[in-house]
This record gives sequence, C-alpha cells and structure tokens, in this order.
Amino acid sequence: MTFEHSPASVAELEAHSAEFDTPEVIEVTDGIHVAVGFGLANSILIEGKNGNIIVDCMESVEAAKRVKTEFDKISSKPVKAIIYTHNHADHIFGAEAMAGEDNPEIYSHELTNYYIDRLLSVVRPIISRRSYRMFGNFLDEESHINCGIGPYLDANDATTRSLLRPTVTFKDSLEVEIEGVKLKFAHVPGETDDQLYVWLPERKVLLSGDNIYKAFPNLYTIRGTPYRDVKQWASSLDKMRYLKPEFLIPSHTRPIEGADKIAQILQDYADAVRFVHDQTIRHINMGLSPDEIAERVVLPEHLSKSPYLKEFYGRVDWSVKSIFGGYLGWFDGNASTLLPLPVKEKAEKMAALAGGEKELLSKAKKALDNDEFQWALELTDYLLRLSPDGGEVKEIRYESFIHLAEKQSNPNARHYYLTQALEVKGLDTETDIKSTPQMAHNIPLEAIFNAIAVEINSEKSMDYNKKSRLSIYGY
Ligand SMILES: [Zn+2]
Repeated sequence: MTFEHSPASVAELEAHSAEFDTPEVIEVTDGIHVAVGFGLANSILIEGKNGNIIVDCMESVEAAKRVKTEFDKISSKPVKAIIYTHNHADHIFGAEAMAGEDNPEIYSHELTNYYIDRLLSVVRPIISRRSYRMFGNFLDEESHINCGIGPYLDANDATTRSLLRPTVTFKDSLEVEIEGVKLKFAHVPGETDDQLYVWLPERKVLLSGDNIYKAFPNLYTIRGTPYRDVKQWASSLDKMRYLKPEFLIPSHTRPIEGADKIAQILQDYADAVRFVHDQTIRHINMGLSPDEIAERVVLPEHLSKSPYLKEFYGRVDWSVKSIFGGYLGWFDGNASTLLPLPVKEKAEKMAALAGGEKELLSKAKKALDNDEFQWALELTDYLLRLSPDGGEVKEIRYESFIHLAEKQSNPNARHYYLTQALEVKGLDTETDIKSTPQMAHNIPLEAIFNAIAVEINSEKSMDYNKKSRLSIYGY
C-alpha cells in the first residue's frame, strides 16, 4: 500500500483563518478565559480568589496590552502569577504589560532561562530575519493570509519587547495552589525542550502550550532551530492524553471541549508524530538520503485528513529531514557529498554543460515559460553565482518565487517565497524592534559577551590587541 500526498489547497488555508481572525476572549469554563486572535499566540486568564493567573504573555507589549484590557473587563483583580509555557518570543515578550505594577511570581521550567538567553544573544540576527520571512511580517495584507497557528506575528518597528525573568522554576513537576486554584505543572519536552503543561485537576482543564495546535506540528521550523526531539514530543502527548482532560486550551488556535474528542485529537497527533519518526528511521536504515526519504514518507489518510494535522504550520517532508539530521547530522552517507565542488566552480560547470552562461539563462527562461518554477529557481541559483547582479536572472527568480507562493498552502513556505521575491526587488529585512529599559537590565552580561564574541571578524582582528572598558549603568 502506498500513501498519496494530497496537500491542502490555498482556499482551505483561507478558510482556516476563521480559527483566529476575529480577536475574542472565550470563556472556556467558569473563571477560565482564553484570548484568541490578538497576535500570534493565545493568552489565558485563570481567575483566583483575590488575584489572577495569566498563562503566556503574547509577543509584544502592544499585543499584551490589547489582551490585558479585555482581561481587566472580566476581572480587575491583581495578577499574582504569570506562567510561561516555554521560552518562545510569542509567549514571553509581552510580560511587562501583563504584570503592570502587580509584581507577580513568574513560573517556568528550569531550562527556560537558558533558552531565553540563547534567543536574545548569539543567533538573534539570523533567527529574527528568518522569522520575519516565515511569518510574512514584510508582506501587505493582500498577500498575507494567516500564519497557520495565529493571524500574524505582532513584531515590527512599531512594537516593543519586554522581558521578565522566571522567579519560580522546576525540573520534572510542581504542584502549587495560587489564590485557591490548584495547579500542576509538568515538564513535557516537545516543540521546545523547556515545554510545560498546566493541569487544573479539579476542573480537568489542560493548558497544553505549543505541543498541540490545529495544524501539523512544527517538528522542524524553517526559521532555524536545534533538533526537536520528536520521540519525546509523542510521549508528552501521551502524558497529556492520560490525564483525560475535558477542556484543552492550546496556546495557539481555539480551545477544545469534550473528553472523547480531546482524547482522539491527542491520539491522532501523537500517532502522526510517531509515524513520521518511525518511517523516517526505517528509511534511514535502508541507506536513503534525506531528500529521498522526504519523498517517501507520507501520512496515512486517516491522519492526513484530520483537521488538526493539515500542514498549515509544520510539514512532513521538512520534519523528515530534521529527524535525519537529529540522528545522523549533516552527512547524507554518500561519499560524493563529502567534499563537494566549490559552489562557484560547480556553477561554471553547469553553465558549460548547458552550452555557456547565456544558454543556461535561456534554459531558465524556458523553464519559467513552461511553469517549471522550482527548476527555474534552481537554475537561477547557479546563474547568480556567476553574475550576482544579473537583472534578467533576478526577474526569473522573482517570477518563480511568486508562482511557487501562489500554489503553496503552507504559510511558512508561502511567506518565505513572497518575502524573498521582495528581497530580489531590494527589500531590506533589517528591523528595529524596541525593547523596554527593564528588558536590557534583565539580560545577563554573559549573554552580552557571548553575542559580542560571534561578531568578531577573525581575519581583521587576528593580530590586533586592544583593551577596552565597558561600563554599564548601575554596575
Ligand atoms: Zn507559540
């Protein structure tokens, strides 16, 4: 039996916007509310006796303020606790707006601090640029449909980041009672290593963070990520199912009600993750390359048809390549890829094969005319290495990106094509997102020095010896 890959259509992606298009605060059950559609992620309000708990804080101070204004209409009691389900920007950067003057405890897993520093220091420039491509931050409203797990990422020159550090952390699990509300936190690595769930045993409500949402899980993200351990992710989904929740509130997309329905969704989600993992490994052991395996691993129909597993965020083929890399690293096992030709030399040889650079260019044009957009794009990769300023090459590239995007129902891929099309035309993807003063204080010196170290140009500085003093206000 073979499985057919039948990706969702762009029209289905458009219909998916109904999940979060209208910002609203949904009362899931007595005293528990989730804000959906105010930014990329959700934020959850749990009402307590003399104070409230907020789970996840949106991606910007501005988005958090929009949510907090709505939460205050429901209950104006002080915020006694904030919980981060994990370290990602869309769950933490609005924290100062949620906390206000209330000085709440901040709960997270013990690894969250480490990942926040990592996010803010060494790879920040490239992760930011790739994130904004992936979330479509530079696109106009007409070309931006949605982000699969939320309407849009609220991060641009007009937004502000804030940061409050966790004050209470745990390793495996933690039980607390806050303002009369019993909460159980458990470490459930999945989308991130520091992921936690929040379980309210008395009301059978599960807050699942980003380990599940209404889209195929992002087992790999194209903005770049360390390996996401998909086996652990599936086990974490099992742990959530064993709780038999009656209400499931993910940190993206809408809440789900009904024990049987939730059990089925969690089962399908875990089955899909395990299926992709196991079939990838089976093919790895047969000696196939990542690209070959990505062509072969396709979800069985009962899973691919689930509305919770449409590839509106993660994709199966990207996941396969990530699993390959997670187990074996970059080498595909074929000795011809061990020490490949230098990129420029390969481009020269490809041009020679076509009968010269001009001929290669006309082949690329022909590919575009024949609607072979991927092939046209691949040929422009060679052509750009030979003539980086080639106007005609850029035009072919632009057209190819636009056409590939038009048919693409995965928002991350779609946005990436459309943004790189704009970059071909000169779009500058530098952004200048502001930070609150408190955020600067909450970044440790070690993270700052780590960021400086990776900026050093070794060629220019090898024989340079200079001491300088850095003075920071307050130290
Ligand atoms: Zn998220």
